Amino acid sequence: MRVLIASSEIVPFAKTGGLADVTGSLPKALRRIGVEADCILPLYRTVGWERFPLEQSGPPVRVPLGHREETGVVMETDAGGGVRGYLVRNDRYFDREFYYGTKDGDYVDNCERFAFFCRAIMEWIARTGRSYDILHCNDWQTALAPAYVKTLYSHEAAFRSTGTVFTVHNLGYQGLFWNHDLPLTGLGWELFTPKGVEFYGKLNVLKAGLVFSDILTTVSDTYSREIQTPEYGHGLEGVLYERRADLYGILNGVDYDDWNPESDPLIAARYTRKDLSGKKVCRDDLLAEFGWAGPMPEPIIGVVGRFTAQKGFDLIEQIGEWLATQDVRVVILGTGERKYEEAMAEFGRRNPDRISLRFAFDNRLAHKIEAGADIYLMPSRYEPCGMNQIYSLKYGTVPVVRNTGGLADTVVDADGDPAGGTGFKFNGYDTGDLKDALSRAVAAYADKPRWEAIVKRGMEMDFSWDASAKRYVSVYEKALQKRGVRI
Ligand code: ADP
Repeated sequence: MRVLIASSEIVPFAKTGGLADVTGSLPKALRRIGVEADCILPLYRTVGWERFPLEQSGPPVRVPLGHREETGVVMETDAGGGVRGYLVRNDRYFDREFYYGTKDGDYVDNCERFAFFCRAIMEWIARTGRSYDILHCNDWQTALAPAYVKTLYSHEAAFRSTGTVFTVHNLGYQGLFWNHDLPLTGLGWELFTPKGVEFYGKLNVLKAGLVFSDILTTVSDTYSREIQTPEYGHGLEGVLYERRADLYGILNGVDYDDWNPESDPLIAARYTRKDLSGKKVCRDDLLAEFGWAGPMPEPIIGVVGRFTAQKGFDLIEQIGEWLATQDVRVVILGTGERKYEEAMAEFGRRNPDRISLRFAFDNRLAHKIEAGADIYLMPSRYEPCGMNQIYSLKYGTVPVVRNTGGLADTVVDADGDPAGGTGFKFNGYDTGDLKDALSRAVAAYADKPRWEAIVKRGMEMDFSWDASAKRYVSVYEKALQKRGVRI
């Protein structure tokens, strides 16, 4: 089976979040089980030609965009693990400082940029005589491609038996644009209806993926159910409910080649479940990294993530004063919305002995926090899967999480589980519940034998790709069946 995984960010080329981790490691996991998987993304400025020798793949592609035509070139390189990485080059769209926009907002031409990306993929496949059995698209930036397979390109030989799978990594980002952008996509006005890509008068690009793909998946079982409800559906719960027979929750796998304290080159010392002495070295290193020194018996709470409402930063802000009165240290690494950055900075200025912050996207520091912290805090309002809590488990850093989405599916509460649990969970999105869970974690930390048992149980958990990659193969087969292909 030949699979092309399309995404706006893919490790090792470009990353802002978990989407890139998943679209980077899934093709490699598929290769390991005999599926010929490749990946494709835009060629951003930050990809770094010196790191990846790029060769042109096929002649330039000519992409119709409304009444115009844009030219692109698909470049090819080794993505590691036997996977070929394809990168769509158009410097006007992608040779920019950021992927999606600046701190002050999205790039105004995002619809055009990603319509170009999707259509360039279609043109490249159609004109270079390639054929993929499965086109696996991810999030709104690639959502037009499944629609193209069923509409503009339905008569192209290259796509006649292509199955399409669309994975929702975060329903909160839908690619909403004014209706005048529709012609840019090439889709006809007959699709601009509530059953198609219209959404309260606007163009909803994500909906193209939800409506036209053969199979839909999302990144945890709980989230697959949550998104069919008004609380988590972001207005698309009806569409998802209608497609529930084709909707599967497949938990993200983790690439333990990158995230494993036994082999991680980015942390101060390596350690295992049997010998945790290296974790102490990592802890001291983390304290020094964040400007603290001396013996620190109190637990270190780590946070890494995008400063957005989704990740629960308003809750963290609200419990700031309370947290400063607790016997804990808090280290936060993140970038994102200015209002949260300012609130966190203020929080740090007022309580320099309790909280230390770094406003950056820094992979090395993210690894150091996973290894050096005692508790990992993730109070998300919603969380499709979440990677950091899974990394935390492997690094023996006990997660405190809200009981939602992938957090619900990966963490077992230590107070509610006869076997002893792996973390602490809270239900309501409110400060009382969060404080309660944090207090329970801090109390458990004081009980060393119990804490060590929780840490070790977490480290034993296995969220590698083996099981999830097989589940993707089975949904690929379902997509092919829907296209009438005999397997
Ligand atoms: P998201 O919703 O952002 O995708 P996930 O938990 O699924 O959340 O994945 C986040 C990924 O991005 C993790 O690999 C995490 O380490 C990384 N990450 C997020 N913010 C930062 C940052 N400021 N610096 C380094 N890595 C970060």
